[in-house]
Amino acid sequence: MKRAIYPGSFDPVTFGHIDMIERSAKMVDELVVAILINSAKNPLFSVEERVSMLEEISGHIPNIRITSFNGLLIDYAREVDASVIVRGLRAVTDFEYELQIAQTNRIINSQIDTVFLTTSLEYAYLSSTIVKEVASYGGDISHFVPERLIDRIYAKYS
Ligand code: ADP
Repeated sequence: MKRAIYPGSFDPVTFGHIDMIERSAKMVDELVVAILINSAKNPLFSVEERVSMLEEISGHIPNIRITSFNGLLIDYAREVDASVIVRGLRAVTDFEYELQIAQTNRIINSQIDTVFLTTSLEYAYLSSTIVKEVASYGGDISHFVPERLIDRIYAKYS
């Protein structure tokens, strides 16, 4: 059984993440989407809220599991028996950081490889930070996140 793990903050999940989830789920038997619990990042949404948003938007994908984790990703990947870590690459700025993390992880555990998917062009600009920035000014976020999540995001700023 080939299992991949797709880690991130997903604060909140965007069309860019959903595209990554749909594409990577097709490549493996099971995709574990793992929310990093990192209170230092001061997230807008609680882990529970992020789990339920991810569950709602991935209902159409049968081979997916939504989880959260504390600590080192590479240790959690081993715990869930994943052989692949999936990450998305948007711009050159993502690359340098991601390369360093991927190489570090391979030194810690050479059984687990990192695979990068390049962003779909229509989402190349998109990040959770952009969504929060626009929402905080009451701007239109319908191009960035699924309709059903929009009110929940605005509610954080009202
Ligand atoms: P992190 O804080 O770990 O970067 P994010 O939730 O911002 O968490 O992103 C999780 C993963 O999704 C990362 O690999 C990131 O590069 C990827 N990602 C985010 N937005 C996009 C996008 N628009 N297109 C492709 N990949 C993306």
